[in-house]
Amino acid sequence: MPIAVVGAGIVGATTAFYLSAAGYAVTIYDEGTGQATSAAAGIICPWLSQRRNKQWYQLAAAGAAFYPTLMQDLNEDMSNSGIYRQVGTLVFKKSPELLAKLEKIALKRRETAPEIGELSILSPAEIKAKLPLLETEQSALFASGGARVDGSLLTKKLVEAAVSNGADYFPEKAQLTMSTTGTYTIATPTHTKHFSAVVLAAGAWLPEILQPLGFSVDIRPQKGQLIHLEVEEETQDWPVVMPDGEKDIIPFPNGRIVVGATHENDEGYDLVPSEEKLAVMLNEAAELAPSLAKATIKEARVGTRAFTSDFAPFFGEVPESPGLYVASGLGSSGLTSGPIIARMLTQLIMDKPTDLPVFDYPVARYIHRTHSYTEIKD
Ligand SMILES: Cc1cc2nc3c(=O)[nH]c(=O)nc-3n(C[C@H](O)[C@H](O)[C@H](O)COP(=O)(O)OP(=O)(O)OC[C@H]3O[C@@H](n4cnc5c(N)ncnc54)[C@H](O)[C@@H]3O)c2cc1C
Repeated sequence: MPIAVVGAGIVGATTAFYLSAAGYAVTIYDEGTGQATSAAAGIICPWLSQRRNKQWYQLAAAGAAFYPTLMQDLNEDMSNSGIYRQVGTLVFKKSPELLAKLEKIALKRRETAPEIGELSILSPAEIKAKLPLLETEQSALFASGGARVDGSLLTKKLVEAAVSNGADYFPEKAQLTMSTTGTYTIATPTHTKHFSAVVLAAGAWLPEILQPLGFSVDIRPQKGQLIHLEVEEETQDWPVVMPDGEKDIIPFPNGRIVVGATHENDEGYDLVPSEEKLAVMLNEAAELAPSLAKATIKEARVGTRAFTSDFAPFFGEVPESPGLYVASGLGSSGLTSGPIIARMLTQLIMDKPTDLPVFDYPVARYIHRTHSYTEIKD
């Protein structure tokens, strides 16, 4: 069965990888501008979040637990990978009491999520031993199972693996139309192809694809910017740092350190970095790691996150449109939940039981038909 996958961020690239590995004839389309995945900070640590939504936690925790399987399926050596590695996470809180409370929550969550690993409250000296750039008098909670992932490298590897499984890949913008008999057509500036199933993994651009087909889509864009710095030290083993606030510090191999990110709700699909916002983030990070103020700035990245009005993600088949699958609304934690969502999309397409109940993430809550398709064509 020929299947199109529109979007090769984390959701589309992983879906294309698993479908092509299962023998489906997959065609991938990815325009790429503003992609959230390749701009993302790269933190995989859902267990220490204060967010209380049960469905979100179930999905994000399953997503974090799934990463080692994904790496294995990609033949990636996790002990020495520039793509994904469990380097641990250091979390700071405003007071020792709040830190102790977080440790208690984490210990409870570990009963069902052993992936969280070892948990301990580290002293300032122990923190410095793990990450010499940090100058602090505070303690922090360390979770050894926390990880960092390079979204850009991961999707590149997933698409390459899909192509070597036989998938076609077009770095082009795709336009979808559907016939009344249930087949789908995708047109790009260079060609047109027909499919019996389509996966729309288009992130914040899902409304742009579905509105012309008569659907309303509850998705809005959120701008996120971050900075990539370079330091002289070897950063390969340094843990991810989550200070109390929204600016995190994520070390990657070869001296690269990412600082970010912003969460801007009023900027639409804008992709222009704001020097002022980047400077504020850098100053905040330098409060904890003063030498970062002197680090070389390598680049600023800007991506667009997709949010629903109740902040919950959705995925599955579009009601009354057999063979049309979607996933969007992954928000700030989509690098964490993206791969497991992709695996469940694959399970749905293959008519297999899904890892989690899909009715917890219902498409029908966010996508509605406003016009019949024939009305639109006329
Ligand atoms: C700055 C920033 C920091 C983040 N940090 C983290 C983090 O630390 N941890 C975490 O878990 N999550 C993080 N996230 C969130 C995470 O990156 C996203 O939720 C996730 O990557 C979304 O993946 P996606 O595949 O749904 O969409 P995207 O990655 O946005 O991919 C969608 C793709 O579809 C393509 N597309 C759309 N329409 C078309 C079309 N018509 N034709 C062809 N291609 C099309 C787009 O060009 C794009 O490439 C961060 C996001 C940002 C922006």
